[in-house]
Amino acid sequence: MRDKTLCVKRPEVSHEGFASLATPTYRASTIVFDSAEAYANRSKRGPDGYTYGLHGTPTSRTLEASITALEQGLRTVLVPSGQAAITVVFLSILMPGDTVLIPDSAYPPVAGFCENYLKPRGISHRIYDPMIGSGIATLIDDTVKLIWTESPGSTTMEIQDIPAIVAAAKSRGVLTGCDNTWATPLYFKPLAHDMDFSSMALTKYVGGHSDLLMGSIAVKDIALHKKLKDTMRMIGMGVSPDDCALALRGMETMGVRLAHSGRVALDFARKIAARVEPELVLHPALPAAAGHEFFQRDFVGASGVFSLVIPPHAEAALPGLLTAAQTFSIGASWGGTHSLLAPMTITRANDAHAHAGTILRINVGLEDEDDLWADLEPIVEAIATTPAVTKTA
Ligand SMILES: *Cc1c(COP(=O)(O)O)cnc(C)c1O
Repeated sequence: MRDKTLCVKRPEVSHEGFASLATPTYRASTIVFDSAEAYANRSKRGPDGYTYGLHGTPTSRTLEASITALEQGLRTVLVPSGQAAITVVFLSILMPGDTVLIPDSAYPPVAGFCENYLKPRGISHRIYDPMIGSGIATLIDDTVKLIWTESPGSTTMEIQDIPAIVAAAKSRGVLTGCDNTWATPLYFKPLAHDMDFSSMALTKYVGGHSDLLMGSIAVKDIALHKKLKDTMRMIGMGVSPDDCALALRGMETMGVRLAHSGRVALDFARKIAARVEPELVLHPALPAAAGHEFFQRDFVGASGVFSLVIPPHAEAALPGLLTAAQTFSIGASWGGTHSLLAPMTITRANDAHAHAGTILRINVGLEDEDDLWADLEPIVEAIATTPAVTKTA
């Protein structure tokens, strides 16, 4: 071979004796074949074969297999964001004339997708009370093809009665899915509760370091896996192997990060609930929380995100107190090592379940807990020290 060819072609080197603990990052657009026949037959390689970088590399398959094992599923697909993990399920299942049921507590862009993307294309949605339980049966007609759940709900943290919803769906042949971002499969396993789809924003706890965007959908049925893969192929959707490598690294420490953040968050939630009206603290492990009994029954732990309802008398002081925080940063998203405060206003289809004012979402990261409490204490104080509200001192 001549020099310019040697610049392009790579010599083979031995891998013998090289047993690294790290998953290699395999980057690829095209992949090549050792015969014309293998190339011609590439589409027959089956769900685990390699055909093109967009459709999977050994790096992305390693992440998929790790998530599949945790979710107790059969296959997992990876998509570019947590929002895409929801929309790809909907796009794979729903046809014009069909209806999807979504909880009022869902990650807000889900309702936006239904209203502004699906509805103009003839796919309906109905928003249900997250605490509906077996009452979901009354909403199932022949057009309903999918029931979506998210437990706990975004910001308002309601835990849903998943077994009751699954039972009602199964009896009518309706598919079910759960956004499992908060619990991760370490603390709740939707597929083990007979759901059809378990999605996660890997952006949050699996990535764990606020530096990547990705989503996963785990299934236990190979036909559903094919539907998801077909949708992704037609749309042209895939993930970067570099991001997969980051997610694999993040996942290695997820157990200890969740255990730490979960403990500190629950300590804070209990401390706050002892100083203010307990109903203001939205944490599934507290007895006053909506769906606490389902949390006790179905979950094996709580992660590090909970919310605090800001009563009207404390609203005015909140912006200044947030800005003054030294250790917490102000920002949406969560699940990383940095603690975050996010003031949220909630809009609901059902006004009866709306909180009119601000709800402060608290993401506990890995900083020293006394430093974190120093930021939270003045906020709690602002809520507690008004005569109208319970005082402890
Ligand atoms: C953040 C989040 C998402 C969206 O994840 P992105 O990767 O930011 O698109 C979806 N569901 C829940 C519950 C989330 O918290």
